[in-house]
Amino acid sequence: MNFQNKKVLIRVDFNVPLNGNYEITDDTRIQAALPTITKVLENGNAVILMSHLGRPLKKLNDDGSINVEKFTLRHLVSYLSEVLGREVKFAEDCGGEQSQALAAELQAGEVLLLENTRFNKGEKKGDEAFAKSMADLADAYINDAFGTAHRAHASTTTVAQFFDADHKSFGLLMDKELANGNKVLNNPARPLTAIIGGAKVSDKILLLERLIDFVDNLIVGGGMAYTFMKAQGGTIGGSLCEEDKLDLANRLIAKAKNKGVNLYLPTDSVVADNFAADANTNIQPSNAIADGWMGLDIGTEAVASFSEVIKNSKTILWNGPMGVFEMDAFANGTKSIATAVADATAKGAFSLVGGGDSVAAVKSMDLADQVSYVSTGGGAMLEFLEGKTLPGVAAIIE
Ligand code: AMP
Repeated sequence: MNFQNKKVLIRVDFNVPLNGNYEITDDTRIQAALPTITKVLENGNAVILMSHLGRPLKKLNDDGSINVEKFTLRHLVSYLSEVLGREVKFAEDCGGEQSQALAAELQAGEVLLLENTRFNKGEKKGDEAFAKSMADLADAYINDAFGTAHRAHASTTTVAQFFDADHKSFGLLMDKELANGNKVLNNPARPLTAIIGGAKVSDKILLLERLIDFVDNLIVGGGMAYTFMKAQGGTIGGSLCEEDKLDLANRLIAKAKNKGVNLYLPTDSVVADNFAADANTNIQPSNAIADGWMGLDIGTEAVASFSEVIKNSKTILWNGPMGVFEMDAFANGTKSIATAVADATAKGAFSLVGGGDSVAAVKSMDLADQVSYVSTGGGAMLEFLEGKTLPGVAAIIE
């Protein structure tokens, strides 16, 4: 990344949430990209930034045109100018005439932001001509967009082929994400415990399969736990269940047993008579939930046994909430697990939290700085941990 006197094209992940006035409501992703941008500027280069924002081609205007007002990256210009301490120029296209003109004039220390990469149909298709139009703007390319590294898009992957090995690099965020992911994958301190939650088994089958190959303890909570309960002959009332995944759940249980992995399912659940914040609730065994009730959080016994396992772990990976944590009545399990992970970290464990909802839980409890690393890329981190080669990574190192 030590380029000098170059025009450097940096793919960042500026896909930040905006409110109705197009103000940034959470700048985590921008903050995470600043170290790379600052370093490249300090090395005497000019910086050309590109990113996607939302899904503009999925949410077109009624007449089929792009809703530029909603999805333009221009919304970020004043904020970026402020945090970078310099004027940020803006091109109303990405690789088009205006980008070319502005990039041609760009001097060392200056920053140009291109319009939303996803305004172009070629972006998601990984289109070569579109990628080349971006590559032609610059002398070097840096990919620092970990959040989209699992997508083979033009700006994350195809563009890299137009730069030789000496003129392309990861950014500092990408490097940090991969290094932290590798702490779980390569020679982790043991016991290694994975905590997996969330709504569906089907979303996380590959991850579960792969984790059983190398973890010591696998804790499964959240809605997905009830598919396992039913597969084992339990009754689960109206709890979430994927009927077509019952065999798979049994296979995963058998695989864990074969490999000597301790699989922990919630023995009890907070059950509700309705999927609502003000439902009647009580605690029932997770494998004997009465008709008319559904499990929406792990119960007190499960919290205690999961916390004990977490407390004794040296490496912890957490993805997915333990219950419907968006409603206070069903947030205790997720909060207790967050606290247990923070406690284990204070005792010296390495903890990685990856995946949107568990990240949100840790942040809402102000525990983000009490775990070792919070990933900025949910989907990308999952695919990395599943053992897949991320296209955005491969394009730099190949
Ligand atoms: P995921 O995106 O797969 O990580 O799932 C996150 C979602 O799972 C959150 O919105 C939770 O509310 C939901 N969830 C967690 N536990 C349950 C449960 N027991 N029943 C229904 N939904 C759940």
